Parts: sequence; structure tokens; C-alpha cells
Amino acid sequence: MVLGAAARVAIVGCRRLVCSSSHASPLLVSSQCRQMSMDAQSVSEKLRSSGLLRTQGLIGGKWIDSYDKTTIKVNNPATGEIVADVACMGVKETNDAIASSYEAFQSWSRRTAGERSRVLRRWFDLLVAHKEELGQLITLEQGKPLKEAIGEVAYGASFIEYYAEEAKRVYGDIIPPNASDRRLLVLKQPVGVVGAITPWNFPLAMITRKVGPALASGCTVVVKPSELTPLTALAAAELALQAGVPPGALNVVMGNAPEIGDALLASPQVRKITFTGSTAVGKKLMAAAAPTVKKVSLELGGNAPSIIFDDADLDVAVKGTLAAKFRNSGQTCVCANRVLVQDGIYDKFAEAFSEAVQKLEVGDGFKEGTTQGPLINDAAIQKVESFVQDAVSKGAKILLGGKKHSLGMTFYEPTVIRDVTSNMIMSKEEIFGPVAPLIRFKTEEDAIRIANDTIAGLAAYIFTNSVQRSWRVSEALEYGLVGVNEGIISTEVAPFGGVKQSGLGREGSKYGMDEYHEIKYICMGDMNRQ
Ligand code: NAP
Repeated sequence: MVLGAAARVAIVGCRRLVCSSSHASPLLVSSQCRQMSMDAQSVSEKLRSSGLLRTQGLIGGKWIDSYDKTTIKVNNPATGEIVADVACMGVKETNDAIASSYEAFQSWSRRTAGERSRVLRRWFDLLVAHKEELGQLITLEQGKPLKEAIGEVAYGASFIEYYAEEAKRVYGDIIPPNASDRRLLVLKQPVGVVGAITPWNFPLAMITRKVGPALASGCTVVVKPSELTPLTALAAAELALQAGVPPGALNVVMGNAPEIGDALLASPQVRKITFTGSTAVGKKLMAAAAPTVKKVSLELGGNAPSIIFDDADLDVAVKGTLAAKFRNSGQTCVCANRVLVQDGIYDKFAEAFSEAVQKLEVGDGFKEGTTQGPLINDAAIQKVESFVQDAVSKGAKILLGGKKHSLGMTFYEPTVIRDVTSNMIMSKEEIFGPVAPLIRFKTEEDAIRIANDTIAGLAAYIFTNSVQRSWRVSEALEYGLVGVNEGIISTEVAPFGGVKQSGLGREGSKYGMDEYHEIKYICMGDMNRQ
């Protein structure tokens, strides 16, 4: 499972690079990689002077190079330009991060809830104060349009604010005793050291959803962000230090994912693994958590249906499905992956939806008016192309798009495909790109059967004007989240998570806090003695 540095071969374009020694010439993999343009350079210079362009890992409150001085290059997917070289860490650095986290746990967990709350609140304030710079970082390394990136900062920061408040509301229980000389109590205590592994599609929010409740509960954390988007995580960690998160309570290591993952999983000091990412990697982590019986929370892949019934308001259905499908260019776990449309409204919807999709603006995320950024890398483009090819070869018809965008790089045209059926790959697997497949259905029962015919169970959307139907269908859908006449439903105040193979546990809301607690029962005896 462990890859040596030399074996960390490039997978796609210039996005995934070999860990390279910073003393040697950089091991660039693709000829598409370029030096930074003036625009990107001025953004990154501003970020550097603000102290937010961090490239070292954070261990025990200190910014540290990888021990063997190897680095990974972080690229802008819109241009292929190199944004930064960051430390490429592995087992040794992770073990040190775990040790510092374990030590910090002894004091952080003993602070009062009010003290922890105030630190988190200061972190929230700093995240909001730096929302522009953090948004620029997200656009630079992930590609999403700047407005959407700044929206992610607001969303990501909201978890820190929410859990700063919730820290003070971790109540236990007093249970009526089963004997008159006893008192029975329930305490909630922090789990301990948490390993948090996060993906590239929300470089900030997937981290704050985990670190917020963990720190609020008194846990300490070792975060491993995606090697594709470590810069936002490092900037957020810098602001956490400024807010007063003590050394060791929050560590960030990035680089060799299997090595870091294995070290976190092997350590008996790490009591919980929380992961957001693909179902395949989530299953591996779950299996590897067994020998040390760690708690595990998993936020995995989806295959969301957006179901448009004949009685839907057409405008609401188009607007909602557009938002659910094309946010982050289709690269979210809750993106509508299948658009199920009832017979009677199918043609009208196909036309109105295609018209709306045509208005989407593809471009560099820094360009004013852009609504669709690039896909994360060449592998993502190849996946989308192969899914579209498969659908067309089996009889689906492209209404719009269906190919790489003329901008080149990893830009793909917003695409609508009709006559998609359940035997096509895009009906079964996450597309993770800007392609909306329209699937026809006849009855409500058909819609529920098709929607539930998948191993995934994260988000589903329904569009109908019938109150009765909205209840019936919401209850019948095997999904953790359901949007009714609404395409964007994630918020810090509601529980987020999947059923079936989309995951375990919930993030956000009061339920998200439970994931970081152990419940301790205390039985006090001999209580009648004078
Ligand atoms: P991924 O390949 O599973 O990667 C996720 C994280 O796991 C990254 O930090 C990655 O590191 C790391 N990783 C990969 N292999 C590992 C290993 N063997 N041991 C330990 N860590 C390992 O997923 P992704 O492509 O980044 O993200 C897209 C997926 O995430 C989609 O399936 C999407 O649906 C899912 N997602 C789910 C939610 C949710 O809340 N349910 C939210 C967002 C995304 P490197 O990147 O450094 O290799």
C-alpha cells in the first residue's frame, strides 16, 4: 500500500506530480505546466505577503518542511500554472503530528467549553475577515469561480461559528436510578486524537465540518488535505494558530496519501478517523481501522437523482436542477447525477433546461461572469468523455455540449443528454462533471424504484407541487438528504450524510457533534450513607 517517493508517478496532466527534492529540478510531468501568469502571480504575491500562502506542514504548532525535503507542486487547473511547492510528507511526519496531537489533547480537552468556544469564535472571525484571500486560494488551486469560492469560505466558516456555539451545549444526563442508594449519570467526553482526511472539491468546508466539532468537543486533530488542494487547508490552519488554537491541537500533514493514511490508521493514539472522499478509499480506510477499533465517520460518493414530476413548477424544477447539477462544474458529492423526468413534462423540461444550461459561462474562475470552472484534472475529463461515449453508443442523444471546451486544459462543455437509460454507466456511477443525463419515467413508483436502484444514498431532489407526493416520495427515498423544490440544501445547521454505501455518521448540526464524543456512564453507589 505504501508508495515510495520515486514510485509516486504522475497520473494526470500536470496536476499530480512525483514528490521531488526541492534541491533538484522540479519533476514536472506535463508539458502543459507553465510558469505563473502575471495575474495569478499578483494574487499569489498578495497571499504570500498576507502570510496565508503557506507551503510547509503544521506539526506541534511549527511550520515544517518534509523531513527528506521533498515537495509536491500545486497547480492551477485552469491554466496549468504552478502555484506553489508544498512539503510532501509521509509516515515520520504523521507520527510526529499524532504525538503532538496526543500531547495537546491532555490540556485542550481539560479547558472549559467556554474557553474552547472563544478560540473557535476568533477563528471564525478571522476566516470571515480573510474570505477574499481564502476564496482566491480556492480558485487558484481548485478552479471554481471566485464568487463560488468565496461562498465556500462563508459556508466553511459557518461550521466553526456553529460549533463555537455548540461547544457550550454538550449536555449529559441524570438517569432515574434502579436502586435508592445509587445515582446514575451520563457524561459526554471527547473521543481523543482525530485523523481527518479530506478531498479537493471543497478545500475548506470539508475540513471545517470536521475540525469545528472536533475542537469544540475537546478533541485534537491531524488533518490530511488532498495533495491537489493543500494551500487552503494550510491558510486556514495559519488563521487557527492566530486565533489561539494551541500548538498540536491542529496539525496538517500532506503528501503521500497512503503512507499518511496508514500511519493514522495504525496508531492506537488516534481514536477516530473521519473521511470525506471516494467510496473506494472510504472502504479501505474502514477496513484498516478495524485492528485498532477506531470510530469511523465516512462521507462518500453519491449518485443523486433529481426527480421532476409532471405536476412540478417548470421554472422551479429547471432552476433547482441547474443548481444541483452544475455547482462546482458538477464536482460535488450531492450533485444531481441522474435527472429523472416524468413522461408528461419530459420534452418541455428538456427544452427549458437546455436553454438554461446554454447560458452558463465557462472560463477561468478569476474571470468576471464565469459560472463553470475547469474540472480538477485530465483524469476527470477522461472519465466524463468515456461516460458520454458509452451513453451515446447505447442510444442516448446529446442536446447540448458533449465534448471538451474550446478553452482546452480541463474545461468541458456544460452538457445535456436525453434518452439516457439505466444500462448506461452514467446512470450507475458518479459523473463528477458538468453532464446532465435525462432519464424518462412513467409513474411515481417507477421514479422511486429507479432512484433507489443504486448502492449510493447521499442526496436526492424532487420537484412537485403536490404536498402529499412530496411526503410520500421523501419517505420512500433511500437517501440521507432530500431537497423538495430546492437544489442547494447543505447548511451548517442541518445534518449532512449518507445511507447505504454513501457513508456513516453525520456532519453539521447538533448530530455532527455526537461523532466526536464518547458516552460514559457513571454509577455512584452507597449514596444513602450519612
Ligand atoms: P479520494 O480519491 O477518495 O481522496 C480523498 C482523500 O483521501 C484525499 O485527501 C486523498 O489524498 C486521500 N486518499 C486517497 N487514497 C488514500 C489512501 N489509500 N489512504 C489514505 N488517504 C487516501 O476522493 P477525491 O477524488 O479527492 O474526492 C471526490 C470524492 O469525494 C467523490 O466520490 C465525492 O462524491 C466524494 N465526496 C463526498 C462528500 C460527502 O460529504 N459525502 C463530500 C465531498 C466529496 P490525495 O488527494 O492527496 O491523493
